[in-house]
Amino acid sequence: MQAEHRFLKFILPARTFNAVRAGTKMWLLECPCGHKRDLWDAGGVRYKATGSPKEIARCPACGKRTWHTARKKTEEEQQAIP
Ligand SMILES: [Zn+2]
Repeated sequence: MQAEHRFLKFILPARTFNAVRAGTKMWLLECPCGHKRDLWDAGGVRYKATGSPKEIARCPACGKRTWHTARKKTEEEQQAIP
């Protein structure tokens, strides 16, 4: 578990933590090179949020620090990236 998530689990009731995790699992981070990964697995947290924010992150595929777009997964992607 990522440090950010360990902290969340420490401060939140289990039910809330599970809701945050479920909400975050709806999102992915996309690198300009085309690599996508689960936002939760990348250590991110996103809960009851909208829009497509950007954040600098190191991409495990191309190895560069790039602007990643955070966006909601399509239904297809929710199946492909559990
Ligand atoms: Zn990349």
